[in-house]
Formats: sequence, structure tokens, C-alpha cells
Amino acid sequence: MLSPEKTDYIDIHTHQQKTDPDIFSVHCLLTHQIGRPHDYPGTAVSIGAHPWFIEKEKLLATIEDVAISATGSNVVAIGEAGLDKVKGAEMPVQIIAFEKQAIIASNLLRPLIVHCVKAWDELLSIHTSIKPRTPWIIHGFMGNKEQAGQLIDKGMYLSLWYSFALAERSASLIKWLPLDKLFLETDSSDANIKDIYAKVAGDLNISTASLKSRIVENYDELAPKKCQCCQGK
Ligand SMILES: [Zn+2]
Ligand SMILES: [Zn+2]
Repeated sequence: MLSPEKTDYIDIHTHQQKTDPDIFSVHCLLTHQIGRPHDYPGTAVSIGAHPWFIEKEKLLATIEDVAISATGSNVVAIGEAGLDKVKGAEMPVQIIAFEKQAIIASNLLRPLIVHCVKAWDELLSIHTSIKPRTPWIIHGFMGNKEQAGQLIDKGMYLSLWYSFALAERSASLIKWLPLDKLFLETDSSDANIKDIYAKVAGDLNISTASLKSRIVENYDELAPKKCQCCQGK
């Protein structure tokens, strides 16, 4: 399935292939691993080079791999790509790799799934310089309202870190966040996306069914709007 039904749970970022028919997931493939989009026909995937595994000597080949793989018909997003000051290649190399993937996403009109650890200033300045035509989805977000506000002001979406979303301490951020900028994910964990939806719906005092339909609307908003005069031609 390449697009979600109104009643689906969306897992916007997972490294595992999900088989539950109630869950629409975006299965993240990474260049340092073996699978490519054509290995998963009929499954919505993202493809990216993760900042932990970028190698300076292989940078151009890695970006070329992303650019070619990203044209697959089941690729719904680019990433995860990003910046990580705690782990991975040196920052100038990470920045080049991230910028190039952000440009691929913008050119192919696909959203970008972003991994960012302690590099928010760099991330925001790259966003300002690239001016992407498609939104960025910050995966694994567990920051505060001020950080969230800066990212949302740039039109970005926030996908909450699974254990943060499940924790009591996230309730005040969840109540404050604009619902039209929210996604949920399991990343590489064994967490159940249905449990995450139930917790977040409880924080918001809405039903799981209405949270599901709101997040499906957010997913539908990721696609660029067709130009009214030429219908995107
Ligand atoms: Zn990540
Ligand atoms: Zn991930």
C-alpha cells in the first residue's frame, strides 16, 4: 500500500517491515544496508544516507545511490538524513551529505525525514538556504516548546520519539503542539504504534479514531499542491 486509508495508524518512520493491515508504515531503507526500494514492491519506503554511517571517501557514491534509489515508484520520502553532533562522520561531511539529500527531496517533490541531534542551528540555516519545496519531518523529536516552535515556524512536521510520546512528561508539549504538524513513529524499537496513538489521544482528550484521521490528513498534506493554472504540468 502506497497511501494510507482514513482509518489507518500511520507509523511515519520505522526500520522494520510491518505486516499489520491496520498500520500504514513508511519503511526506512538506508544506503549502508542491503535493501533498496525495488526489493519492497507495493510497500511505502523512504531511502536515505544516515549521518552515523556516512564515509567521507564514499560520499559521492552514497549520494548517487540515494539519487538513483529515490526515483523508485514506491519511494514516498527521502531519509532519514540529518545531522548528529554526538555520533557519526565529522560535521562538514554530514552537512554536505544532508544538503545534497535535502536537494534531492526538493527536486523529486518528496518530503524529507530528518534525524537531528544537537545541531538545530545548522539544520535551520540549511533550511533557510535551500528553501525546500517539500516539508521536512523531524523524526524522534523530544525537545521543548521553544525548539518545536522554531521548527514549526519553518513549516516542518514533528514526529515524536516513541518513548517520549509514551511518557507522562510529553503531555504538556503534546497538548500545545498544533495537531496539523504531528506524526508518530516507532523507529527501530519494538514499541507498538497503537499504544503510542492511545497515549497521545488520551493526552489530547480525543478518540484514537479522530487522532488517526487527523494524522492521515497530515500525511495527505505532505504532497505538494498542484499549481492551479497548469495542474502541475
Ligand atoms: Zn534517526
Ligand atoms: Zn530511524
